[in-house]
Amino acid sequence: MTIRFAFLPLLLALNFSMCKKQQAVTEKSQPSGSAAPATAAPAVAATPKVKKPVVDQTAQVLIFCYHRLVDKIRYPGTEITPAVFEAQMKELKDKGITVISMQDLLAWKRGEKNIPPRCAVITFDDGWKSQYEVAWPMMKKFGYPFTLFIYTEGVRGGALGGGEAITWEQLADLRDNGVDIQAHTATHQDLREGHTVLVIEPGGKRSKKKLTGADYEKWVQNEVVSSKELLEQRLGIKVNCFAVPFGNYNEHVKELARNAGYEAMFTVYGQPITFTSPLDSIGRYAIEANKPKVFADAVNMIGASSGGGTAVAEVGAKDLTTQPADGDTVRTATPLIKANLSSIGPIEPGSVQMRVSGLGLVPANFDPKTGMVSYQVPQKLRDKSCTVIVSAKSAGKKVETHWTFGIEEGPATAASSPAAAAKK
Ligand SMILES: [Zn+2]
Repeated sequence: MTIRFAFLPLLLALNFSMCKKQQAVTEKSQPSGSAAPATAAPAVAATPKVKKPVVDQTAQVLIFCYHRLVDKIRYPGTEITPAVFEAQMKELKDKGITVISMQDLLAWKRGEKNIPPRCAVITFDDGWKSQYEVAWPMMKKFGYPFTLFIYTEGVRGGALGGGEAITWEQLADLRDNGVDIQAHTATHQDLREGHTVLVIEPGGKRSKKKLTGADYEKWVQNEVVSSKELLEQRLGIKVNCFAVPFGNYNEHVKELARNAGYEAMFTVYGQPITFTSPLDSIGRYAIEANKPKVFADAVNMIGASSGGGTAVAEVGAKDLTTQPADGDTVRTATPLIKANLSSIGPIEPGSVQMRVSGLGLVPANFDPKTGMVSYQVPQKLRDKSCTVIVSAKSAGKKVETHWTFGIEEGPATAASSPAAAAKK
């Protein structure tokens, strides 16, 4: 039998996000109906059974929210020039802040996946075409994932989707290339009961009304729930994030969103996200041309190395000699696991810990002379793949590495042999 353990982190793909039309209620007609070329959803990768890794709970994540990228700023509240945007993306890189995908952030919050100590997630709101035409190429250049928060009536052809709006075809293209697309309601308005809202009727007729009671419930249901379903059906995706327009919501709206299956809700009250930040009010930093300090302040919040908690330096397993090697498949369910930590530098005695999926913390041996940490698995591992996490302290800093190998018990031939390399 073949092992199929794909590296799930890699499959999580990139996200991109973008926002758009915040100028809101502009013109346009056309009910958003939809009947779009329904594209098949990308197949979900078969998830191998890898036990949860131990995640770094001291990591911090900045989430940035952008809107339009334009050369000439006319609405400084939601626009930024491509040059400034690019400089900010570069600054993240220069400052050692890793841009991760929204789905990686959520996997970390679930305790399923580790992330580097200092991260950023890039999101774009409202679905402007400049996100597709200008931002995307830049993000590709940097190799950054991103997420788009889309309000469905704001997509081109929708009741609020003017000429600068992104199109469904562009969204499908982004989706096909791994960009994460998430929900931002149907018409981008204050979701709390009692506010006057623009009501667009099926025929396209619009009026401003203060909705209450059953009328409000019907309207807000469409904003929170139906808009999610529309995105999922039209694009063949799974939507699990909800950006609340203007960050205005209340317990009732949260409950609707939770019931609709949203895993996380986002506001625009920027703050570093930690492992314990509540998922129903994740703050993002809205980056605007007229408030250049917002980005700088955010970066400084976590950029100053010892900002919060103990930083854990991630050491790539490839930089160490490990046995079995990352991605290898072994023929025994009782492998000898080893890693040479000497390339990390002097290791503080007693600080070395090894965790093995399915076993947890194990009594590994560490030889300070050779820098070798080793552990003979005493009884058969049950899963088809095994993740090892080794952490240690070096020069007062915690370092950590993890790798995964496959197990395929061979016939007769005992002994461990590095067989087929895992495929991705
Ligand atoms: Zn918005």
